[in-house]
Amino acid sequence: MISLSSPIPDLKSLTPQLQKKLTKAGFVTAQDVVFHYPKKYLDFSQFVEIAHLEAGQTVTIRAKIVDIKSKFVFKSKNSHTEAVVKDNTGSLKVIWFNQGYVAKALHKGEAVFLSGKIDYYRGLQLTNPSYELVSSHHLHTGRLVPVYKLPEGVYDKTFRKAVDSLLHSIQDIPDPIPTTLLSKHQLPSLKLATKELHFPSTKQSLAKATERLAYAESLSQQLAVEILRHEREQFASPEVSFNKKLILELVKKLPFSLTTDQKKSLWQILQDLEYKKPMNRLLLGDVGSGKTIVALLASLEVLATGAKTVFLVPTEILAQQHHLNFLKLFKVFGIKPSQLILATSSSKKQGKINKTALELAKIFLQNKGSIIIGTHTLLEDKIKFKGLNLVIIDEQHRFGVKQRSHLLKQIDELDEDRYSIPHLLSMSATPIPRTLALSIYSDLEISYIKEKPAARAQTKTWVIPESKRAGAYQFILEQVKAGRQAFIVAPLVEESETLQSKAVKAEYEKLKNQVFPHLELGLLHGSMKAKEKESVMSAFAKGKFHVLVATSIVEVGIDIPNATVMLIENAERFGLAQLHQLRGRVGRGVHNSFCFVFSEQENEETLARLNHFAMHNNGFELAEYDLKTRGFGTLFGTSQTGFSFKYPEYLTQKVLELAKQDARELVKQDPKLLSHQSLLSQVKPLLENLHVE
Ligand code: ADP
Ligand code: MG
Repeated sequence: MISLSSPIPDLKSLTPQLQKKLTKAGFVTAQDVVFHYPKKYLDFSQFVEIAHLEAGQTVTIRAKIVDIKSKFVFKSKNSHTEAVVKDNTGSLKVIWFNQGYVAKALHKGEAVFLSGKIDYYRGLQLTNPSYELVSSHHLHTGRLVPVYKLPEGVYDKTFRKAVDSLLHSIQDIPDPIPTTLLSKHQLPSLKLATKELHFPSTKQSLAKATERLAYAESLSQQLAVEILRHEREQFASPEVSFNKKLILELVKKLPFSLTTDQKKSLWQILQDLEYKKPMNRLLLGDVGSGKTIVALLASLEVLATGAKTVFLVPTEILAQQHHLNFLKLFKVFGIKPSQLILATSSSKKQGKINKTALELAKIFLQNKGSIIIGTHTLLEDKIKFKGLNLVIIDEQHRFGVKQRSHLLKQIDELDEDRYSIPHLLSMSATPIPRTLALSIYSDLEISYIKEKPAARAQTKTWVIPESKRAGAYQFILEQVKAGRQAFIVAPLVEESETLQSKAVKAEYEKLKNQVFPHLELGLLHGSMKAKEKESVMSAFAKGKFHVLVATSIVEVGIDIPNATVMLIENAERFGLAQLHQLRGRVGRGVHNSFCFVFSEQENEETLARLNHFAMHNNGFELAEYDLKTRGFGTLFGTSQTGFSFKYPEYLTQKVLELAKQDARELVKQDPKLLSHQSLLSQVKPLLENLHVE
């Protein structure tokens, strides 16, 4: 008996070769195959008789093979298959380029379905169609046909057959979502949805199935959010009364005046801190909008009461940057530098102090008023943070819901008698439209910094046609001669991280050997270890490379004020908000900066999008534009939000809202989901997973 948990080697309907390839690609059980949903569909559902065919149509014909033969072509050293087929209304030429084997698979006299696009070449013809013998159970023709993202050497046709056979032999696909919810929203069961996702009966049933998929994912995420919210609501936080005198004094000493949005956000934060209710606020603002100073001022108010703040950041370099900047400001403010501690995993190597992050944290905890800046190390070392009043998390999407709560939980263990947890302020530059933010971050209050401080430097964006590529490289050369640095984001390969790494390495070699033979180039990509990435970034920050060739991981990160050019390949494949994040890597210093975007496609629609990007400089506006023109896929594709959706393209505002309402209701009635064990099993990994990107 085959079930979802049957191991791949037990699936007799799969050939040994297929089992081997799937296993190598990480497929373990039947479930991994069955839940490997298509990435898209070919619409072959329209049946047309031969006499009614028109060039350009994508159709299925049902016909008989009159003649079929393979033909060796000297020029391409390959075989074609040529055939003539006919139905009651006429006959048609069919050709399969470089597919001589088709002549062996199909035979004269057989009735076949052929699906594909009708071409015109000295008369109508069907080129490279999908084919299968006529039957009532057709998988590759005459329907919406699934197309998958598959491991190397596994073909769609093979995979479709494998899925089809498994769907027939697996009886039970248990559904984690209660039937009451499904029927309330008229959504299909997991079993039905899975069948429809692979082999849709109609477009409508497919739409329902994708909706169900998106709903299930959103529900799990929102349940996690609600459970954490519920837990948090059991606690109180220390009251930090608003110290107007101090804040005004500090603000007066700043080398610049705060923008209205900065003031407003600071005011909202300081108000939250006055209450016993734990603050859970997200400060959202574009790169360079000045979030840090707002957070610092809040933590200085806490410091003045003799209490402590943890400032958590995703990378060591960022931690070091904050540390340096804060020290400068401490001087301006007249605060003792010993009240600021930097604790990263390499702290022990730095300077005179030969101490581990753990030891530094202990000192921090013994201090009275104090601020500690640290990385994930602070979480890993299982440090018990007693007496914390405020936790600030920079670039919060790098930590994830669970990790944020992890920090809070460590604390409450010790402070149980007080039943107190620190206030939480998270910060993010992810430009996410407001309505959307309200639904996915439904447990957070949000402060927006929309306007940027008066720009000292400008970033101009140019969409560059391929014909002017040399000019762009020349420009980079000139910038380097003037002492500046540049980023080049390599062509995007979406298939896999491994292929992407290959692509970026190839680009790096090409640039190094052919384009910039006299410059120092650095290389950064996702398959590198965190340590390697850090050391490349810090070398770049120190000016050791002129040009950093990278994948889009360079998006999150650090301040390199000396970098003035951001060149992005394959810009058409990014969401505009994401492009904006990339662009935000330059224009951070006193020099005017430049963003060059190249696109593989130069069609009107793509150019319009990219031009829109070139002309707009507000991340939130660009995110709205993305959402309107391309849906959720681009926004959630890279898990920039801290919520990663496996199938973001199926997400809609409506589904998010439904999931949010349901999650809220369920947790209100049953905060630990005791009577919803199957749902809980979906949510648990989200709650427990402390994985760091
Ligand atoms: P982000 O929001 O991306 O974290 P930062 O907080 O790093 O931005 O601020 C970017 C730069 O702008 C910093 O050098 C900071 O000192 C500066 N800055 C912040 N607020 C203002 C302001 N109101 N006027 C001028 N410069 C500012
Ligand atoms: Mg920042």
